This record gives sequence, C-alpha cells and structure tokens, in this order.
Amino acid sequence: MSDTALATPGRDFIRDVVDRDRTAGRHGGRVITRFPPEPNGYLHIGHAKSICLNFGLALEYGGTCHLRLDDTNPETESEEYVEAIREGVRWLGFDWGSNFFHTSDYFERLYGFAVELIRRGKAYVCSLSEDKIRAYRGTVTEPGRNSPYRDRTVEENLDLFARMRAGEFADGASVLRGKIDMAAPNMKLRDPLLYRIKRATHYHRGDAWCIYPMYDFAHPLSDAIEGITHSLCTLEFENNRDVYDWLMASLSIPDPPQQIEFARLNLTYTVMSKRKLLELVERRLVAGWDDPRLPTLAGLRRRGFTPDALRDFCERIGVAKANSVVDVTLLEHCQREALNPEVPRVLCVLRPLKVVIENYPAGEVEELEAPLYPHDVPREGARKMPFSRVLYIERDDFAEVPPKGFHRLSPGREVRLRYAYLVRCQSVVKDPASGEVVEVRCTYDPATRGGAAPDGRKVPGTLHWVSADRSLPVEVRIYDRLFRVERPDLEEGGFETCLNPRSLETLAGSRIEPAAVDPALGERLQFERQGYFFRDPVDSRPGRPVFNRIVPLRDSWAQEVQKQAPAAQKAPEPKAKVPKEPEAKVPAPLSADELATLERMRPALLPIVQTVLAAHPAEVERYRNGKAGLLGFLVAQVMKRVAEAGGTANPKLVNAMLREALEPS
Ligand code: ATP
Ligand code: MG
Repeated sequence: MSDTALATPGRDFIRDVVDRDRTAGRHGGRVITRFPPEPNGYLHIGHAKSICLNFGLALEYGGTCHLRLDDTNPETESEEYVEAIREGVRWLGFDWGSNFFHTSDYFERLYGFAVELIRRGKAYVCSLSEDKIRAYRGTVTEPGRNSPYRDRTVEENLDLFARMRAGEFADGASVLRGKIDMAAPNMKLRDPLLYRIKRATHYHRGDAWCIYPMYDFAHPLSDAIEGITHSLCTLEFENNRDVYDWLMASLSIPDPPQQIEFARLNLTYTVMSKRKLLELVERRLVAGWDDPRLPTLAGLRRRGFTPDALRDFCERIGVAKANSVVDVTLLEHCQREALNPEVPRVLCVLRPLKVVIENYPAGEVEELEAPLYPHDVPREGARKMPFSRVLYIERDDFAEVPPKGFHRLSPGREVRLRYAYLVRCQSVVKDPASGEVVEVRCTYDPATRGGAAPDGRKVPGTLHWVSADRSLPVEVRIYDRLFRVERPDLEEGGFETCLNPRSLETLAGSRIEPAAVDPALGERLQFERQGYFFRDPVDSRPGRPVFNRIVPLRDSWAQEVQKQAPAAQKAPEPKAKVPKEPEAKVPAPLSADELATLERMRPALLPIVQTVLAAHPAEVERYRNGKAGLLGFLVAQVMKRVAEAGGTANPKLVNAMLREALEPS
C-alpha cells in the first residue's frame, strides 16, 4: 500500500546518484535542481513531494534550486496560478532566492535552438494533419512510416519554420518535428513534435508568439539554459528521457543535465491530478482551490495543516522508483505528531445538550483552574474555566438507555466533568412533541471540586463541558474524506460518482470556553476528545470564530503500525508514542425511540444485513481484525440494497444492526 517500505528517510537512489556524480567530479561537483510546475492549476501535495526533493537536495549539497514556470500552453495558464504556486512553495518553507524563471522568457533562445536543429538536419517542418501524424506513428507492435515531408531540405525547412513563426499558416497546418527514427521501439522517438502553431494570448507573453514549443523540446532545453545538473521528474516521463538525451547530443550541449525519474505520490481517498482537481473546482463540487477537503497546498493550509508536518510526511514517504499509493492516515499521523507537543487543550461542545445542576445556586459563577497542556507535554500554562448552574455537554455523551459499554452520562449515573465536579443525572426533560431529551437535570457533589472524590469512589467517564452563559458561540466544520473509496480515480463511472456526501459537516451551534479565543493561545487548538482545530482565516468574524477540524484524535495509522508490529520494518515507526485518547470512538447511542424502530425493522433488515455480510467475507474479516472503518463500507452496501428494493432505512440503525451482527458469536 505505501512506498515507505523502500525508503530510508534522507537516503534514496537519487541522493546516491548525486553522491556518485560528485565523487566522479561530474558537473564540477555542482547540484542545481529545479521545480518546474506548469501554471495551470494550484499545487497539490504531490508537488510538495517534488518541492521537498528538489529544494531539499539543493540545500543538502550547498546548491541551488530554481522555481521555473513551465508555461508553454497559452490556453490553460494564468497569473492567478503563478501567484498560487509562489505562495505554495514559500509556505512550505522554501526559498528560490533570485532563481525565479519562466520558460516563456526563453522563447527566443528556444527558437534559436530549433533553427540550429534544422541546420544540423535534425528537424523538419511536417505538414501532415494531426490525424495523419497519429496514423503514421504506428503502434507499439508496428513501426511507423516516414512523413512525406521528412526529406525537405534544410533551406526549405528554415523558410517554412520562419513563416510558421511569422503567422503565415493556420493553427495546426504544420508542426516542427525532430528527425529521429519512425521505427524506434520507444514511440517517443518517432519524430516527436517540437513546435506547434497556436494563436492564443499567453498570460506572460501576450501575442508575441503564435508558435509554441512542446514539453519534450522546451523542458530539456530550459534545463540546459539554466545549467541544471539533475533534472528530477516523475516516472511517466521515463520514455521522454531518450528525447531529452537526443536533444542534448544533437545540439552538442556541454555538460548536459541528466533526467532522473522518481515515483509520483498518490494518496488514498483523493485525486491528485490538476485536471481532476480543476474539474472539482469548476463544477463546484468543492468550494474552490482552497477547499479544506482538497489535497491542494492551499486547501491543506486552509484546513490547518502545517508546513512542518507536510515536510515530515514527505521525508517519511521517501523517494522510490516504484509507483504506489500512500495511506492518507500517514499524513494525518504526521500532523497529529507535529501538533501534539505544541497546541493548547481547550473544551468545546460541538453538539450541545443543556445540563442543569439543580443544587448549584442560580446566578453564581466560579472560576476553575485548568492546565492548557497534559502532563506529558513539557509546556506550562493554565486558564480559568467558568462553572455555573446551567452547562452544556455533548449530546452524544448522554444516553437515556445506555448501550453496553457506554461510560458516560445516563439516568442515575455519576460522571466527572473535566476539571470540575462529579455530577449525577437525576432526571431528564423531553420535548413533548418529539420526545427528544432537551435537558438533563443533575446534582453535583461540592466535595469533588477538581474532579476527585474524597471517598475515592470511581466514576465510569469524564466529559467535556462549558458554561451555558459564559461560553461563546462558534461554528465548527468537521471535514471527512472527499471520496468514499480508496482509489476514486479507478472508479468506473468516474471519480465524481464516489464523492462522500458527508465530507463536510457544519455545526453552527457549537459552544467553546471563553479562554479559547484568547489570541495568545494561537490559531490551532486541541478540543479535548474531539481533535485538532484551526481558526479559519477567511470566514472567522470577531466574536464568532469558525474552526476547521484538521484531524480527529483517533490515529488509525498508529493502530495500523501497532497491528503490523511483527513486520515492523515494513512501516516507518511513529516518532513518538501516540497518546491514548480518553475513550475510543463509541458510536452515538440509540435513543429509546430508535431502539423501538430498530426492533420493528429487524425482520425486514436482518436478511439484507446477512446477505451483505455473506457477500463481503474479506471486509468482514478485516473489520473483525480491527479495521473499524470498514463498517461504513458495509453500511453503504446495506443502504444500497435497501434502496434497490425501493425502501429506505436510517443509516444509524443499519450501523447498529451491522455491529450487532458482526459481534463474534
Ligand atoms: P498533474 O499531473 O497533477 O497535473 P503535473 O505533473 O502536470 O501534475 P506539473 O506542474 O507539470 O504538474 O508538475 C511540476 C513538477 O511536480 C513536475 O516535476 C512533476 O513531475 C511533479 N509532480 C507532479 N505531480 C506529482 C506527484 N503526484 N508526486 C510527485 N511529484 C509530482
Ligand atoms: Mg503532468
């Protein structure tokens, strides 16, 4: 699943090549790399891998890394993208100094190289149509045929190429091609296109040109112009390397750069090509390039991810030669590890349920002292938490009819309110219309201030809470994966068919303790028991902050690593032990009404549940081995069959029934 198996952080086959080159005195011992994005979209985390590699190598070897805009397609490129690229690289923590370049600034020199190739009899103007060119190329098993224009004389080619530039021919009427070998087993060598005619205004060069160089021509020669020593690119360009080297040799480029390919980064549960990301943005399936659900640098940044965590992630995945897919939980794990020792802990109630402490005087407020960091984080700091008669707790932390293993509040039970008191539920108030519990009536034990009982009695759980009057309203955005499946790009109907409809949940009525909005605490906080959150820089308003969930607390990567412990060398070790969270995620308990509905539905639903389980034995086994996330997949299968049968079902009930059916008998 991940390519980490092959990688030792900081050591890889590219660094081996560079070491060998330096030992051999190649390129005068210099290391000059470049990061060459095309400004036709925003950068994504795959680009971060390339940025960390190129800039990282230059830093390690005392060289330089250029930022070059590979801008040879006037129709898709724009200044907005240029700015986003510069911002992305800077945000990741890298500095190109004065080495900021545009391929389009080389157009005159590239044109000169093309003329020189023609003079050397190594390029010709071909006037076949696009379709014909394709037909003449042959296939992997059959050689191609020579273009009838292949034997034009140098003079004729020089004249035609000059007239192409002068705008005498229509778009597509002719192209410049390298004269290599129409029978070459490597199809890229079958007289590759070097220039095409395209009338379109270029964002940087305006209408100065109506011919544009192709990637295979512009890229290697831009490297040569800049004196690049090691030109690192992704594996899909492996076959283009022969064209690269042919150009260097044909133009007698001194000390030519060398192209080295590495595996591109793919991540589970997302798509990673600018074309697909653009489609998501243009079709408004997301809110823009910086939508926090996207793997773009702008999106990750807006969500609250930090550059140090992304660099750490890139280092851990390493650089290898085989394409693979990295589990997104590794990225989340790196982010948690970066935030855990840094950020203050506060209490925020996402879905509030009112609690009245019957024996606490109305109108009274006391300030309880609470540390901002747990004892295993070597940081100092505390804040005051106002405690009062009316509080909020998390709706999920109360169950009128507690399911087995529920360690929270229910009628008659006593729990601890974090940093405050032990409270016992005495009764509930229900909405007469819906029957829903709208208020929990409790009593507190004044002798338990701070949370410890003098008589040493134990309570099953500790809940977070806020004062009703003294807490502040906040909007909280809970992000989940954008896609329901690991590899959306492999989906038959296209990746749009497997978007996760619940990838964003907006909680407009959340309440946070007042100290949490103190700017001194910073923009990132851990909401205890909930996750790490980031104050949204765009939508937050004074008095009404918006918080984005960066990552939840539960670390499925660490769990996975622990499970695979016998095969330890296969997965990178987490750097520090991930702290155990107070409680594993227990699904929301069913209300009395829901339990009744479940019983009513059982005869109809159970056969479907059993059919689905029988149809997915592998998933069932993986679920039983701890891959709890598969439950969602199984729920979806049941829901699908229910819908196919023309019915409807509440996913929460399906979830409960599946869990019941999956209990080892
Ligand atoms: P996409 O395929 O997403 O559209 P691209 O390769 O067309 O990306 P460029 O702007 O040409 O995007 O990429 C700039 C550099 O980043 C190239 O050297 C490319 O190889 C590298 N790169 C792009 N995607 C990845 C990835 N997923 N992993 C590693 N490097 C990448
Ligand atoms: Mg590409």
